[in-house]
Amino acid sequence: MKRKTLRYILILAIVSVAGIISIQIYWFSRAFDIREKQFNQTVNIALRNVVDQILTYNGSPVHQINPIEQLSSNYFVVMVNDEIDANLLETLLINEFKAHGLEVDFEYGIYNCVNEKMVYGNSISLSNKSKSKRTPAEFAIWENNDYYFGVVFQNKQGMLLNQMGIWIFLSVVLFVVITFFAYAMFIILKQRKFSETQKQFINNMTHEFRTPISTIQLSSGVLQDPGILKTPDRLFSYVKIIKEESNRLLNQVENILQVSIIEDKKLRLKKEPLDVHEIIGEIVAGFNLVLQDSNIETQLDATRFIISADRINFTNMIRNLIDNGIKYSTSVPEVSVCTKDEKKGVLIEINDAGIGISKEHQKKIFNKFYRVSTGNLHDVKGFGLGLNFVKNMVKLHGGVIHLESRLGEGSSFKLIFPTVHED
Ligand code: ADP
Repeated sequence: MKRKTLRYILILAIVSVAGIISIQIYWFSRAFDIREKQFNQTVNIALRNVVDQILTYNGSPVHQINPIEQLSSNYFVVMVNDEIDANLLETLLINEFKAHGLEVDFEYGIYNCVNEKMVYGNSISLSNKSKSKRTPAEFAIWENNDYYFGVVFQNKQGMLLNQMGIWIFLSVVLFVVITFFAYAMFIILKQRKFSETQKQFINNMTHEFRTPISTIQLSSGVLQDPGILKTPDRLFSYVKIIKEESNRLLNQVENILQVSIIEDKKLRLKKEPLDVHEIIGEIVAGFNLVLQDSNIETQLDATRFIISADRINFTNMIRNLIDNGIKYSTSVPEVSVCTKDEKKGVLIEINDAGIGISKEHQKKIFNKFYRVSTGNLHDVKGFGLGLNFVKNMVKLHGGVIHLESRLGEGSSFKLIFPTVHED
């Protein structure tokens, strides 16, 4: 699938998911509103019946205009304009709410005309669910200060939500579907990235292998000529080229194999007490021998420099970092290796003044096959395996690695390893 097509599919998918979520939220709130309206209407009817019955009981005429007002979403006040018997009110409220299927918890209060205060009446539970003791409701004073009573449904929202079981169930199902969908998208993108890196790796590998193979082919072509026997110097130089190039090939294959060995956890490290300064000295001397117009500087200040490490792998790790410092420099390489004492062991710093690595790439360069694309500016070949090997080795040696780098200014790889006490 083309990158552009995938992007369109992704945008379409995100828009559809956002649409589905919005529709679900809209219908959910609509359904909630309808339930709330139904509830309010039923409460109105029940309360109206209660007033009528109180007035009938008192022998007063029944109100013509609606005596009920809803002051807030869960607070209803009922104008009675007549004396209210608290016991009678409670019984009537319970009966009417039950008769209308309102299995709710409520509290009622009666307005005291003498001291002009709402008197808290009682808290009634019809739902049999609320066992916990609630703080009594606040009954706001109604400016119409005649005989009236108020009813508060403290758990109205919760009760309405309880009744919306099917909607909640549908929302959960939708959430699960969207989660699976997002996960599938994530896997597709990951697979795509993986196949891109794989393609890049195969490209790199072909490039890297082609040069030594063609050199070997050319050299063996020369060796096929019987006349070469007359010039043994030439013969030896071609044999040397074949040997060097096949070694290069072997190293590259080893590098690739190493990754799968580490990944399969089949690598057995032969750890032994190792002198970090001695190893660095050997590696740097090797590099300085072949470097033409620069030298790798060292400043080995650590006083504790014996660590427990596998000689070959540790050497390869440091060599990889120095090699990168040389490879990724625009002009004459300026690479230095320093050691210092660190609280947790010995600090090894490999610094270069090369092309540097931008922040966005700094974490990724330790991933397998990851290479910073440098365009045509700096066409350095590689597999993107070196730093992955370094990261794995540091981990296997119980160390930590930290990178400080600025694009265009250079990089500094800092490694800390625990030291061992030599008796
Ligand atoms: P390779 O060098 O084979 O590409 P590495 O794993 O060693 O693989 O490095 C991964 C990438 O990190 C390189 O492609 C390069 O872009 C970047 N990199 C590594 N070391 C340096 C460095 N010292 N300076 C600048 N870039 C670096």
